[in-house]
Amino acid sequence: MSKKIQAPRGTYDVLPSLADERLRLEQTAARIFERAGYGRIETPTFEATHLFSRTVGEATDVVQKEMYTLQDGSGDSLTLRPEGTAPVVRSYLEHGMHKEPQPVKLWYLSNFFRYERPQAGRFRQFWQIGAEAIGSADPAVDAELILLLGELLEAIGARDVKLVIASLGQPESRAAYREELQQYLRAHQDQLSEEVVARIDLNPLRAFDAKHAPTQKVMANAPRLIDRLPKEDLDHFAEVQDLLRAADLSYTVDTTLVRGLDYYTRTLFEYQSGALEAAQNTLGGGGRYDGLAEQIGGPPTPGMGWAAGVERMLMASTQPQPVEPLLDLYVAYEPGHKAAAFRLAADARSAGHTARLELAGRSLKGQLKQASRTRARYVAIFGDDGVQLRDREGGEDKVVPPETVMHHIRGSI
Ligand code: AMP
Repeated sequence: MSKKIQAPRGTYDVLPSLADERLRLEQTAARIFERAGYGRIETPTFEATHLFSRTVGEATDVVQKEMYTLQDGSGDSLTLRPEGTAPVVRSYLEHGMHKEPQPVKLWYLSNFFRYERPQAGRFRQFWQIGAEAIGSADPAVDAELILLLGELLEAIGARDVKLVIASLGQPESRAAYREELQQYLRAHQDQLSEEVVARIDLNPLRAFDAKHAPTQKVMANAPRLIDRLPKEDLDHFAEVQDLLRAADLSYTVDTTLVRGLDYYTRTLFEYQSGALEAAQNTLGGGGRYDGLAEQIGGPPTPGMGWAAGVERMLMASTQPQPVEPLLDLYVAYEPGHKAAAFRLAADARSAGHTARLELAGRSLKGQLKQASRTRARYVAIFGDDGVQLRDREGGEDKVVPPETVMHHIRGSI
């Protein structure tokens, strides 16, 4: 016997039982974005590979180990999108959106792909809701975006949520800091974990993320980027914080915050949930990416955005269980009356009622059992004597002419 085919590791099927809460999340997000003037965008599922390698960063885990890259029939290297910001900025440039009033504000709900080790809250295909505001360097853009994700998390009842913010400054000051940090790490190399040592050249900032206790001890005294930021960046950061306070949003500043993508400049933030396991407790986050448009061949264009994981938001939230909607009409029939029954079910739906019809050839007895299982308000039974209409909320069964069934129902539902 051949092996059973299953969904690929790290992926899952969205069954109807999951679809409801996802739909509600989508509707909540749409409402929040619409009120703030964000338009919805959907970019292709795959893009040219170098769109991601150039922007996300050659040295990042995402580019080094996690991309689903394939060559198509014409030899082009394509990659299933691992994130949404670079595609949206690509689209902004491609469609000349710089000619529209700035910033251009966009949101998406899309699937993304990363070859990661699957675990709770980490999948190989996952969904993100994301927002980007491109074309303005105003700190109010940063604050508005941070607020919007906060609003979404609150609206879905995400539990035990904490906002953490930081500033990364500009590439120049970051490069100088990076060198200083690398020297510090080399000077303490014997106390660091192997993994951190191996990354000193490629990604020294990651050392702040280490779970290895001796490394953490060394990092407690490591130089901090925030102490090396130029005045313009500190001013920008201070204004973002003023605006967050003006909106009564509480946050903590974490000078060691790092995110897995290289394109960030200035503001960086994350919302974490205490309801999730520590290693995957980030519900969503993002930051400014003022250099990203240039990296993909566009003019200098500031931008800011975030992405939040759909799976993690649902895991951390307490959306009430939906009540099973009641069925208005169940149409049952005796042999020979299928077409008339079919027609009534279709008419009832066109008129806006919920209606179901026997679709598996059950006996009349079986059909009536189904009708009570679905808790239908009305049951119409087509037979040789006409249509018997039963109101399950009381009253006598009535025998009515087929063309009047809708009339009877309409009067009471
Ligand atoms: P990132 O694009 O890495 O900044 O991630 C933003 C958010 O997307 C994270 O906080 C998670 O909620 C979610 N996310 C990222 N990677 C995965 C994954 N492999 N599986 C599920 N959710 C993910």
